[in-house]
Amino acid sequence: MTLTVITQKEDLLTHINQQKEQRKKIGFVPTMGALHAGHGSLIARSVAENDHTVVSIFVNPKQFGPTEDLDKYPRTLNADSQLCAQQGANIIFAPHVQGLYPEGFATTVSVAPNLSSILCGQFRPTHFTGVTTVVSLLLHLVQPTNLYLGQKDYQQVQIIKQMCRDLMFPTNIVTAPTFRETDGLAMSSRNQYLVPEARQKAAFIPKALAKIAYGYLNQELSVEKLKQEALLELKQAGLTPQYLEFRLAHDLTKTVDSHLTDDTAVLLAQPVELNGISTRLIDNIILSRQPHSIDSLHTLLQRTL
Ligand code: AMP
Repeated sequence: MTLTVITQKEDLLTHINQQKEQRKKIGFVPTMGALHAGHGSLIARSVAENDHTVVSIFVNPKQFGPTEDLDKYPRTLNADSQLCAQQGANIIFAPHVQGLYPEGFATTVSVAPNLSSILCGQFRPTHFTGVTTVVSLLLHLVQPTNLYLGQKDYQQVQIIKQMCRDLMFPTNIVTAPTFRETDGLAMSSRNQYLVPEARQKAAFIPKALAKIAYGYLNQELSVEKLKQEALLELKQAGLTPQYLEFRLAHDLTKTVDSHLTDDTAVLLAQPVELNGISTRLIDNIILSRQPHSIDSLHTLLQRTL
């Protein structure tokens, strides 16, 4: 199987139409590149479950705020192509900014603020509108049967699900578990920014979540108690999160305030600062008795405790 890199949307459409004529099932993995094994797990899953896999690589300017890391975001197309080829992807779609947003582009797609202005949306007010705008464009072009998203960006998944439901995109959404380093840190393209001392601090993020996972698995139900334990863990590394919140996993607009319910999402955003350089990392766990959730919690505990 050969991998083809396509940059022009007209070429992509021609290619997709050919696949559709042959009734091929298309899997789609949207990314911003600088691919790592977490992305690799999404691509592998798409390859296993579809006839044809498209990976998009596009550092979307609309989802970065004015003071964020758009310019320094890593761009590694050669290495990304190798990873995509190894995983068996068929197409990389890597458009230029002008290709997706030509002169005169004037439309935004946004999901209601009760979902997009909470959690990360408080700190990145234009972020999710940028995400939903680009994902809707990409879905129109790729027309996938299955769309693969990572649980690591849990709020993003919920927002894209809402958008697809409301705008009737005929795609099935598959959420893949968070792929972690051996010490539990969630893989992220932004981990590349971390110098060794900052990387050591970042390891306290999964440790803090593991405290909550451990409590949950041992019947501790007090949200306040679990939250304080996690905050204490972060404090050991001198970290104070932007937010650490407990919300209903199937409805992030609702907070879980005093006692844990099954199906609680615990979501965290943590800037890791060193020598004036700040890297903002996010992570989350789902507290649920579903076997795949329990497995994820055990994996986190094994790697961190
Ligand atoms: P990004 O390139 O960071 O925009 O991510 C592209 C897709 O990969 C998104 O659906 C992410 O949620 C997913 N992803 C990123 N990191 C991980 C990870 N560690 N494990 C699983 N999926 C991930």
